Amino acid sequence: MRFYVETLGCQMNKLDSELVAGLLGQLGYQPVTDVAEADVTILNTCSVRDHAEQKALSRLGHFNHLRKKNGTPAIIAVMGCFAQRSPELIRNKAPFVDIICGPAELHELGRLISQSLLQRKADQKVSAKIAVSDFRKIRSGQEALCDELESLDVQRPMVGEGFQRFVRVQRGCDNFCSYCVVPFARGPECSRPVDHILEEVRRIDRTGCKEITLLGQTVSSYCQDHQGQKVGLAELLCLVHESCSIPRIRFITSYPADFSPAIFEAMAELPRLCPYLHLPAQHGSDRMLKLMNRRYTIKQYLDLLEQGRRIVPNLSIAGDFIVGFPTETQDDHQQSIELLEKVRYKNCFIFKYSIRPGTLAAGKYTPEQEIPEEIKSARHSEMLQVQDRIANEDNQTMVGKIVEVLVEGTSKKNRADKQTLSQLVGRTVEDKIVIFDGLETITGTITKVRIQSASSLTLFGEVV
Ligand code: SF4
Repeated sequence: MRFYVETLGCQMNKLDSELVAGLLGQLGYQPVTDVAEADVTILNTCSVRDHAEQKALSRLGHFNHLRKKNGTPAIIAVMGCFAQRSPELIRNKAPFVDIICGPAELHELGRLISQSLLQRKADQKVSAKIAVSDFRKIRSGQEALCDELESLDVQRPMVGEGFQRFVRVQRGCDNFCSYCVVPFARGPECSRPVDHILEEVRRIDRTGCKEITLLGQTVSSYCQDHQGQKVGLAELLCLVHESCSIPRIRFITSYPADFSPAIFEAMAELPRLCPYLHLPAQHGSDRMLKLMNRRYTIKQYLDLLEQGRRIVPNLSIAGDFIVGFPTETQDDHQQSIELLEKVRYKNCFIFKYSIRPGTLAAGKYTPEQEIPEEIKSARHSEMLQVQDRIANEDNQTMVGKIVEVLVEGTSKKNRADKQTLSQLVGRTVEDKIVIFDGLETITGTITKVRIQSASSLTLFGEVV
């Protein structure tokens, strides 16, 4: 039996897809890259914005169309945050889907697929199967978050591109930012055991991997008991650094109110820990932060970054912003622009607010308090323009410097007609994207590149 997995959304989803691919591989299924060849098609979905859900429905429609066109009896399964949050909506809009499986039920997926295939083989109608978690029961202590998920991570086979890997250190989130679906889609926050993380890191190290990224929704709040001591993210980073020789270690995503200065100390002391920090502010106005249920003020945020830059002078900072949250005034918006100017982020993910059903902010505001689309769009473009200028100015200071780049492969614009050299893309330790010509065979190596020119998003150079 052959399976195809397509992943939408964040790195956590990519890691889940890898785990599912491993799980199915252990059960004897073969992966394929062409959906038309698959007996089982799995879509891993995102729910963070309405657009992501619409895209998932559109891909499911396409898979069903292919299934009908090819006359193949492929099973179609949906996993990920959309599956957890909206199984009924998926059943309504895509009634042809055979399996709906939430992120905390992935250990069930193999069994559900086998059952569906058996039904199909016996010429029976495949009954729709839904496995989603009741996080309210888990949060109120009525149910434990299943150990099977941990065992999926522990048994993780090393599939896919080998030189960059993610390691999950935490699941779920308890912050309940008022616009966010994650606590409802991924459940309560829990930190994985230190021993399991270190064992996984050692296994990855043995494969010759060049970069690992420790993943958590709020990785800065990582907390576990280990050998009679409390281990937070700073201590975990030290232990990971000690237990492997992987040249680059990163972590994402941090939450400002949980962030301990000890993490900056670790960044300054550990040579293989990258000086890169993704620390979303989400807004520049304290009033808006309060409405967003973020537990810090702009002063605290700026003080933290000031401390970070003092301890780690080459610290590269990325951020996230939401534009047009209900009741946002022009003055609030101006404060977000000021924050961009003060922090000078390496890059920023700037999104227009959209209501997500089930979140704390949904249904709380009157239509008059919602920001009209044209104002949202104008503020969004202004933020993008300011950030573009800042990133461009900062990148120009890189021209003439020599940087170490982990080569990720050919760039999207690589010209196939080139005889010997390809256009390659890679990243510096600060997570800056570098484009240069080189042999494709250096993919997966760390190479020195002299920067010759720069734009807001990209550095361009030549191999030294
Ligand atoms: S910290 Fe806030 S934005 Fe981030 S995942 Fe948790 S609830 Fe969502």
